[in-house]
Amino acid sequence: MKKNIIILLLMSLLFPVEHVCGEEMEKYPQLSLRILETTDLHSHILDFDYVNKRRTIEFGLSRTASLIQQARKDQLNTLLFDVGDVIKGNALADYVASSNVLYYTDIHPAYKSMNLLKYDAATIGNHEFNYGIDFLLKSIQGADFPFVNANIYVDDQNNYDQDDIHFFSPYIILNKNIMTNNGKEMLLKVGVIGLITPITAQWDKEHLENKVKIKNMQETAEEIVPKMKKEGADIIIALVHAGLHSDNDLKEKKGNNVKDVSKVNGIDVILYGHSHSLFPKKGERSSLQVQHHTGKINGKPAVQAGFWGNHLGIIDLTLEKKAGKWSILESKSTAKPIIRIIKEKKVPIVSPYQPIEYMMSQYHRDTIDFLKKNIMKQP
Ligand SMILES: [Zn+2]
Repeated sequence: MKKNIIILLLMSLLFPVEHVCGEEMEKYPQLSLRILETTDLHSHILDFDYVNKRRTIEFGLSRTASLIQQARKDQLNTLLFDVGDVIKGNALADYVASSNVLYYTDIHPAYKSMNLLKYDAATIGNHEFNYGIDFLLKSIQGADFPFVNANIYVDDQNNYDQDDIHFFSPYIILNKNIMTNNGKEMLLKVGVIGLITPITAQWDKEHLENKVKIKNMQETAEEIVPKMKKEGADIIIALVHAGLHSDNDLKEKKGNNVKDVSKVNGIDVILYGHSHSLFPKKGERSSLQVQHHTGKINGKPAVQAGFWGNHLGIIDLTLEKKAGKWSILESKSTAKPIIRIIKEKKVPIVSPYQPIEYMMSQYHRDTIDFLKKNIMKQP
């Protein structure tokens, strides 16, 4: 009997690692999270080129939507965001803005399509203001997903910053039920903050002057992100409607490009747009800050999905929870195209997503009629 106890004691002394490993597996849960991005859709919902009046395989959310469906099939935990510039940019957009569409359906067809795809949140782009603030507010009312922007404030006509009020919700904390890698359901609090290039205030002066003011992106984020952390955000995603470089005619360049935002402590992931480029881009030269080969900006996973739905931004993350905190173990960023080139020929990778095609059919016919009438009106 004594002999057995001694053997057991010896065994536990010789193989303690096994026990620790088992506990560690429990202690440090890991999960895979896939974050999807569209940006600068400019009302290109269908794969239709209204300038040349023909179908195209090169753009259109109806095609990106099929990539979204595929990306969701391959991964259980996914989030979908849009980074702005949705309601201006083609004949469909002009038709909606110049007709009574919003009054008889209450939903902008661009947002109606995005509702079908179940976005988690979106931010505002500069072109959202092109038809005026009232049209924008009426349009976003029809979206089934929240909009966030932190650096657009109501212009209260005084010079005190302390009493300034945000024009939109500056951020949101999404409570997402996710599945860990060992099959346990957990709650992940995903903080989402929105930021826009302040040059919007100059470009859309006729609609924005004396109504709103737009502040520095980096400074605003530095003020807001700690609040999000306090509210329990496990991970913070920044939706940034600004390119890699400050807009050239912007007076206050410092703090107003994506690189500056990526320096803000607490921001974990960056989805950006506005400049219609790709990040990461194959073959593009990297710098110390902007690394196409790792898909990171200042060490943070980032993506930019081109424009008009020609790419889907994808960031795959592996997260680990240690001492109550989730952190990023691994990341992979991809700007996935909707076409590929085979023997110098453009070939579609996906076909259009039928629910969007069907839902858009009447709006499309009305847009074609609108174009005909407007051509006839011209002298
Ligand atoms: Zn833009």
